[in-house]
Amino acid sequence: METSWKRPKTLPSTTEHIDTQCGTLHFTIVKEDDKLVEVRGMIGKSGTCGNVFLDTICKMVSMYLQSPEPRYKICKKFRKQFVDMNCGQGKFVWEGEEYTGCIDYVIKRVVKELGE
Ligand SMILES: [Zn+2]
Repeated sequence: METSWKRPKTLPSTTEHIDTQCGTLHFTIVKEDDKLVEVRGMIGKSGTCGNVFLDTICKMVSMYLQSPEPRYKICKKFRKQFVDMNCGQGKFVWEGEEYTGCIDYVIKRVVKELGE
């Protein structure tokens, strides 16, 4: 991706509704030419601390995805730093996979989508 990537006005997206121990996680994956370029997340009531934190994390992940950093390096860093993060509300299973928390889902989903 070029350094000067500019977000088009419209991009295709898919929103997943995941039942987590923290409530329903609404996770949106945005792609350009089948490549992940943006994620958005909502959990709990809008305006609550957890909701704002997740929104902020997703925006920061998106900035990283839109940077010139090679995707395999992003995956490597995410795996090393964030996988199995535990938000303290307990594990949950979604589509046969176990997650240690809502943030763990977000990180694993991004890594899976990057496919590295
Ligand atoms: Zn959580």
